[in-house]
Amino acid sequence: MTTREASIIEIRDSLLAGRTKAVEVIHEALRQIRAVDPQLRATSQIFQEEALARAEELDMKLKKGEEPGLLAGVPFTVKDNICTRTGTTTAASKIIPTFRAPYDATVVLKLLAAGAIPIAKTNMDEFGMGSSTENSATVGPTRNPWRTTHVPGGSSGGAAALAAATRGMLHLGSDTGGSIRQPASYCGVTGIKPSYGRVSRYGLLAFASSLDQIGVLQSSARECAAALSVIAGRDPMDSTSASRAVPHYLGELERDVRGLRLGIPTEYFPDAIDAEVRARVQEGIDVFRRLGVETREVSLPHTRYANPTYVLISAAEASSNLARYDGVHYGHRARNPQGLVELYARSRAEGFGAEVKRRIMVGTFVLSAGYHEAFYNKACKVRKLIRQDFESAFKEVDAIVCPTSPVTAFPIGAKIDDPLKLYAVDILTVPANLATVPGISFPCGLTSEKLPVGLQIYGRPFEDHTVLRLAHAFQMTTKFHLAAPPVYAGS
Ligand code: GLN
Repeated sequence: MTTREASIIEIRDSLLAGRTKAVEVIHEALRQIRAVDPQLRATSQIFQEEALARAEELDMKLKKGEEPGLLAGVPFTVKDNICTRTGTTTAASKIIPTFRAPYDATVVLKLLAAGAIPIAKTNMDEFGMGSSTENSATVGPTRNPWRTTHVPGGSSGGAAALAAATRGMLHLGSDTGGSIRQPASYCGVTGIKPSYGRVSRYGLLAFASSLDQIGVLQSSARECAAALSVIAGRDPMDSTSASRAVPHYLGELERDVRGLRLGIPTEYFPDAIDAEVRARVQEGIDVFRRLGVETREVSLPHTRYANPTYVLISAAEASSNLARYDGVHYGHRARNPQGLVELYARSRAEGFGAEVKRRIMVGTFVLSAGYHEAFYNKACKVRKLIRQDFESAFKEVDAIVCPTSPVTAFPIGAKIDDPLKLYAVDILTVPANLATVPGISFPCGLTSEKLPVGLQIYGRPFEDHTVLRLAHAFQMTTKFHLAAPPVYAGS
């Protein structure tokens, strides 16, 4: 079996030691992407020239003895809903197929300042709405490197597929209801949705502002910690970003997990869970027990309301956030309209895909006069109950463990015609966004069909270091995260 040990953390060291040059690192990353992308369709653009030019610049700086950043020379990909001055930012939508952002998102600026080099934009479900990357209106579906007839999950499916099929790169994703963790789980990689407010959302095309969070998909928790230590922190451009000090994530990883208390919520193991997913997750929990982590049952009684609550709140916020794509402020503009109303109506009808329209209609409905109280306000109240569930559980335990998704990767086409079926795969990930807590997914084994299973850990708000530390301890004693899929370009 091929393994994938190379890590973004070692790239800087090899540059400093003169074992390699940034230009070589970028050539190797480009080689890997080009080797797998025709099969996977994981990228929407590749920045070959720009990346090589930046690498040359970095090599010059190193030659002059300038201090390189923490992630010097690390190639990184950017989900296509995160603004980059290089190339376009389309959110995989036909409404902004050629949008060129006039600025870089804060996360991109931070990575650039740390010496990392943008190399590609990755495919996604349009505006982040989906769980399979089949809703990409620009690139089309991305494929799962473990089985190319299957979805990679979504909406950060391009990032997850690339993270699995290559090595030595950093991948930025976004997570509104599971869009980092669920594709990480389907592709057998490690993905973290940080606490709400931990990472700036400035430059992220908004889907649902109270739920959206930028994070990363990597091959290990250690790589996630390195990436998070660069992108986390207060940003004056995002008033919801937190001013709390950023912990030393890499240092925190090394602390022993013995004695930590891990809660197992009964509600997260419903009958609907696939038997093999349940089995792998149970085995994963046993690994923690062997590491000296205490486990105990906890209850999060409002879990079954999380998905309907998420559907209402996320749609309501989306309907408002997406109002700006009207053919006037932004976006595709219909030809020869008969008046202003028709200009708006046709521009939006022509530009948005079916799932986005569905969400806008649901969101507009639940916010409309007469229904606001019954739907939107009620959902906000239930959201509070869900948050309180977590607050009570976190009085008894330090973290919570559960499956990331009730199922593994499914065949392309299997659920796309039934939105409710597709929404159902999010039941175990949406609570984290509603409760603003951090969540990490990492591989805990394969099914008999050789598809990865993801284990999820939730932590207290701003205890991202605790979920990383538990995942790291797990990865120090197991090898699941090192398994390479059949479509793999790392050498
Ligand atoms: N699958 C969920 C949805 O379609 C979550 C998406 C996301 O996190 N962006 O809403």
